Amino acid sequence: MQAMADRLAQSAGTAWTSLAPVRRALQRAAQLALDIALPTLCVACREPVAGDGVCAACWAQLSFIAPPYCDRLGIPFVYDPGPGMLSMQAIADPPAYARARAAVRYDDIAKTLVHGLKFHDRTDLAPTMGQWMAHAGKPLLDEADVLVPVPLHWRRGFSRRYNQSGALARAIGKQTGLPVAVEALRRIRPTAHQIGLSRSERAANVQGAFKVAADRKHVIQGRRVVLIDDVLTSGATVDACARALLRAKAASVDVLVFARVVDTLKSPI
Ligand SMILES: [Zn+2]
Repeated sequence: MQAMADRLAQSAGTAWTSLAPVRRALQRAAQLALDIALPTLCVACREPVAGDGVCAACWAQLSFIAPPYCDRLGIPFVYDPGPGMLSMQAIADPPAYARARAAVRYDDIAKTLVHGLKFHDRTDLAPTMGQWMAHAGKPLLDEADVLVPVPLHWRRGFSRRYNQSGALARAIGKQTGLPVAVEALRRIRPTAHQIGLSRSERAANVQGAFKVAADRKHVIQGRRVVLIDDVLTSGATVDACARALLRAKAASVDVLVFARVVDTLKSPI
């Protein structure tokens, strides 16, 4: 009886030993299946990519904005006129905010990312976009006390389900440790879409559209604010927001956006 038990144990042991490589192969196959099922995808084109962020092809198509640019508006210059130089536009029509910075030019890939975040609930895009913004706006963020996202009107917020500027502000807040005053700035009247409007029409459309909520004035008063938005076109929206923040006695207002429209390369003179 004992001999039979020993033989059984021996044969089971042999069987187990011979199964071990199979087991390891199955484990490797399972890991491979997991890797195939959950690859890291390029945030822009959804092709598999090594690491996080965008693939090499999309990266090459993004135009990151770096100096030289207008110290005030952040519009790129074609040549370096020296530090602190302002564009003609900044001198002729100075904005309410102190400085504006953008991570990238608003071109095809930037548009894909912005639309993904805005219309397709791609909240997974916010950390990468926020990281690029934090890099582009580092000098502004180093001096800031609080981040304020440009608000949506509640009806638009409802249809899009969440505020993309708020998502970007939260991503930057996480990376910098800066607080985000999500409810500080309110849109007090609905505004038409800015698309298709002239520069002066855009300004008129958003004039007086924002205000700091009475119960949030204490988070703005005396604070250095960085206003966060996804795209800067004419600058009318961020200018109207900056006016509202300054009326609520913000110490200063800078602007940081993901992408800005750059019509032509502006020279300083
Ligand atoms: Zn890609």
